[in-house]
Amino acid sequence: MSKTGVEHILRTSGHPRLPRTRKGAASSSRQRIVPDSPSARVRDSVLMHNLYVVQRWSLTKIGRHLGVKGNTVLTGLRQLGIPTRSISDALRNVPRPGSQGSRHRDWRGGVAGVRHRARKRLNQAFVRPVLERDQFRCQMCRSRRELVVHHMRAFNEIVCSIRTRYPDLDDESCIAAVIAAHRLQDGITLCRSCHKSLHARYGV
Ligand SMILES: [Zn+2]
Ligand SMILES: [Zn+2]
Repeated sequence: MSKTGVEHILRTSGHPRLPRTRKGAASSSRQRIVPDSPSARVRDSVLMHNLYVVQRWSLTKIGRHLGVKGNTVLTGLRQLGIPTRSISDALRNVPRPGSQGSRHRDWRGGVAGVRHRARKRLNQAFVRPVLERDQFRCQMCRSRRELVVHHMRAFNEIVCSIRTRYPDLDDESCIAAVIAAHRLQDGITLCRSCHKSLHARYGV
């Protein structure tokens, strides 16, 4: 169990703030590209480090930029030894609608779309059914306020194990697998304060 259980907090109205997109950096990185096959570009460590680590572009965005699939980008990053972000981590950097990012061409597809779909589907398939099963009460103190659905396995851990076992899964299939891994019997409804004390007790 870890603090990433808060992935399942019911009140999901607030989207995280994001770092502003650095303008102009894309065009400068483009000059580094050797006129070679797209797969060779994926192996350019300077370029890939710049796009993925410095600019924090998504796999999809990099893929589009280089003319390859997101999975090819993922494989390239692995081969270069660049640590890849989990989906939940990547999702924290996605602009919300109405911010400047929403006008960006990546808004509909890319990680933003993944975030939206994953959140919605996880709520439907896991969070909501657990709340209903627990009759919208904290299972420790019976409170009905500020409810959270805690999962026995951390969201990050689930994503990482799926990514490790099936490295070639595209985002869509990965989301499906993440959702399938959220079994109802592994979820429990808690209020915010009991959730906090549970995590504190287990030292996470
Ligand atoms: Zn939790
Ligand atoms: Zn409670």
